[in-house]
Amino acid sequence: MPPETLDDASFMRRAMALARAGDHRPGANPIGCVIVLNGEVVGEGHNEVDVRHDPTAHAEIVAMRRAGERLGESEFRGATLYSTLQPCGMCTMASIWAKIGRIVYGAERDQVHPMYFEDRHLDTMDFVRDAFRDDLSVDGGLLAEECAELYIGPDKDVPRDEQFNR
Ligand SMILES: [Zn+2]
Repeated sequence: MPPETLDDASFMRRAMALARAGDHRPGANPIGCVIVLNGEVVGEGHNEVDVRHDPTAHAEIVAMRRAGERLGESEFRGATLYSTLQPCGMCTMASIWAKIGRIVYGAERDQVHPMYFEDRHLDTMDFVRDAFRDDLSVDGGLLAEECAELYIGPDKDVPRDEQFNR
């Protein structure tokens, strides 16, 4: 990826703060997302799946809903989405539909436990590469080590019934 800008790092740190807030809120999860348009945060959030009893309430979706309400738009052309973890398939597809211009994520998929992802082998970034759009870019691995610390590691022995994707 190209050298990150100061802005990229500061928005990712904001996403990390949201992730940590989620980690301390019962039923929420430590994934944070910030959506920025023209240098301004227009939507942000952390995972609220269990809080809302809404399987789609991933941090990225929560942030998109807030951006939509704030902007009165359902397309966010030119916006950058910052997520502390590589977005899942649902959030990647939603980003494509939302006409997000750039996805920046922190921890890479192989830095965290596989239970954070719904599929075994598909790389959700293939969705981006295969999209009809040609105005969407992805920069992964920004502050990756720090972001990865928010999550259970790839080799940790997690009991099967505690794995989110089983
Ligand atoms: Zn997701």
